[in-house]
Amino acid sequence: MEKPSSEIHHVMHARRHMHSTFYSRLIVLTLVFSVIPLIVVGWSIYVYYSRFSSDRLTEYFRDQAQYHRRLIELFLRERTSDLELMAYSHSLKSLQKQENLRTIFGVMNRGEPFFEDLGVQNDQGKHLAYVGPFDLMDKDYSGTFWFRELMERGVYISDMFLGYRGIPHIIVGVTWPEEDRKWILRATLFTDPFRALVEDVKMGKTGEIYLVNRQGVLQTTPRFGGGILDKAPLPMELFTEKDGVLVLDPMQYDNYSSPRQIVAYAWLSDPKWMLVARQDYDEAFRQVNHANRAMLLFLHISIVAILVVAIISIRHMIRVIRKRDEKERQLNMQLVQASKLASLGELAAGVAHEINNPLSIILAGNQVIRDCCEEPTKLDEDFKSMLLETLSQMDGQVLRCNTITHNLLRFARRSASVMDDVDINRCLEEVIALMEKRAKSSGISLERDFDASLSPFLSDPSQLQQVFVNLISNAIDAHEGKPYGTIRIATRATVPGVEISVSDTGMGIPEGNLERIFDPFFTTKPVGKGTGLGLSISYSIIQNLGGDIEVESTEGKGTKFTIRLPFLSPEKLMDGQYERKVKK
Ligand code: ADP
Repeated sequence: MEKPSSEIHHVMHARRHMHSTFYSRLIVLTLVFSVIPLIVVGWSIYVYYSRFSSDRLTEYFRDQAQYHRRLIELFLRERTSDLELMAYSHSLKSLQKQENLRTIFGVMNRGEPFFEDLGVQNDQGKHLAYVGPFDLMDKDYSGTFWFRELMERGVYISDMFLGYRGIPHIIVGVTWPEEDRKWILRATLFTDPFRALVEDVKMGKTGEIYLVNRQGVLQTTPRFGGGILDKAPLPMELFTEKDGVLVLDPMQYDNYSSPRQIVAYAWLSDPKWMLVARQDYDEAFRQVNHANRAMLLFLHISIVAILVVAIISIRHMIRVIRKRDEKERQLNMQLVQASKLASLGELAAGVAHEINNPLSIILAGNQVIRDCCEEPTKLDEDFKSMLLETLSQMDGQVLRCNTITHNLLRFARRSASVMDDVDINRCLEEVIALMEKRAKSSGISLERDFDASLSPFLSDPSQLQQVFVNLISNAIDAHEGKPYGTIRIATRATVPGVEISVSDTGMGIPEGNLERIFDPFFTTKPVGKGTGLGLSISYSIIQNLGGDIEVESTEGKGTKFTIRLPFLSPEKLMDGQYERKVKK
């Protein structure tokens, strides 16, 4: 049943090891079951959301490009339809007449005027009739690019060009057959209404829409950089025949130096223009990036919070467990001590009892011999006195043995306690008065630090004094080899009782001895000086009074014994409950 102290040490080491593995296991578990899933979920959301939002944004730009392409196409288609309607619904004869053409021109421009001028031409590029602000009647158009294209295709819309008048404009023209020849109805468009369709579109701070022809020449004026008929700042070779969305990055394309931008483009069928809807990448993705950054921040904060909370709570848990274990260890040690004392107590009582009998017999024998000596026999006087002296020496030794057995019996708690009201400060004062002389002669001063508010309580004053004598006497012995020192005796009220401490500045107790000093017969003092019973008797006295005794010591610096006594009800004490506890 008893646990040797070295075994307890091993157990403590094992426990400490167990605590640290427990700690790391809990941390790993927290990581595996909360942080890692959080990272996986957070990362997936992040990736999914980024992809989703960038798809959405791409879609938006593509829609913008398609929508505006259709607007422009419709606008231009309507203009050529106007011309076709007029060409096919009037005869050449009527169209050739200047007044008729003027009337037609007026009808076409009713409402919002889209046409700047209108002319009827023959297949040689000569005007037959012309309505408009310029004097173009005599101009020969047979050499112009649009004339050739128009004659070939039948319907034609030109790119933006300067022409004879030196202002950017677009020519739309249709041909119709009459009298076995081809005739031309041609008009110039006001470019403003058409340009407004794209130039007025604003997307954020940096977004814009513009048109370029196949060669990358601007057909409208962009919001930023470049004017109409300038070269657009676009690497045209990157745009395929199919509509699409590109991210232009100066890092990726050598011949592109503008900031990174997202560009959606859509090709018009006729004329072959490309409609561009673009915005700086950073602006377009700002909100997405904000959201993503907030997400990542939240993720990081959550991870850190989980870790911190886990670490703090696990640490706390381990601290609590450690405290419990420590308490358990102390309880174990006390148990070991108590059972040791109990068995030794039984033994000592038995031995004392057994010795007492022979001692009484020896004493009785002594008396018989003494009586014989007194009889008037012829005994040599010298021999007689020697015999009597020896007898009295024997008496002395027998009495000494008696005292020892008495002590042993007391240790075994066979001697009855006498309960009384104890004023602990006075009780200590009496002991100090007794010890002061011995202390002074060793150069040691006794200091008192008493709590004056302590009220008397029921206990065994003489046993307590025995304990204090033991402690103070040990403290004085601990100064051996030191010329001076201090022993401080303090009392304090605690919630359920009183605390008495004896601290000294002596040699201290080596760690290895700490667990053994309460063992009976453990002593480091020379034979004849120490019995090793002082502390074990003190220990059992305090235990019987319901208290406990504790030691702290630093080798070379000093030792402090602390006794805690609870105020117990008289019934409990009289009950002998504490006595029984030790005897078990
Ligand atoms: P003894 O005093 O007869 O040796 P104790 O049971 O009173 O027996 O003490 C046991 C041992 O504990 C002592 O021999 C000593 O080594 C150690 N000891 C007790 N009190 C002190 C103290 N105040 N300072 C240093 N050692 C002490």
